[in-house]
Amino acid sequence: MSPKKKSLETYTKKRDFTLTPEPSGKKVKKNREPIFVVQKHDASHLHYDFRLEIDGVLVSWAIPKGPSTNPEEKHLAIMTEDHPLDYATFEGIIPEGQYGGGTVMVWDLGTYVNWKQEYGISMQQAVENGKIEIELHGKKLQGSYALIRTKLHNEKRNWLFFKMKEGGKKKAVKYNEKSVLTNRTLNQIAQEKTKKENL
Ligand code: MN
Repeated sequence: MSPKKKSLETYTKKRDFTLTPEPSGKKVKKNREPIFVVQKHDASHLHYDFRLEIDGVLVSWAIPKGPSTNPEEKHLAIMTEDHPLDYATFEGIIPEGQYGGGTVMVWDLGTYVNWKQEYGISMQQAVENGKIEIELHGKKLQGSYALIRTKLHNEKRNWLFFKMKEGGKKKAVKYNEKSVLTNRTLNQIAQEKTKKENL
């Protein structure tokens, strides 16, 4: 089994693809520039999922408070299982009782640049080192962000996500809470599904 496939084992095990509309990860597309996605996920707890394309899969973190746009504010990011690349455009409803049951919205989507590449540090290596520094080119998130593994609570999965300081600008930005793909809110996605079921 290729390393790519192996890293999706947990993702596949947790899901029944006959019951959830989530992608099974069979399609693998190679992007010229690696992509990132932020999905807003109304599951048992409302949170945001931040995913980075690394070696053909989406390496993923759950960020309860969402991406911080203020360099002074570091947000907890809990590493979760790798997701398939085509998950990046998944928007819809995971049925109740299934893993992650709830509504998913694509909050932001774009490409990123690895700041460490010029020092010969690949993204894979940066994940292993627990120190990721990237520039995001999203529809909402722009500029330099960092993900740093923390020893908080002695939990290996805990990282901190924050915006890196850039020349003087310090202002926190407020974004709209709509999908960058369909311009819908989480509620609208949930309601449209209910409407269809009642037809
Ligand atoms: Mn999630």
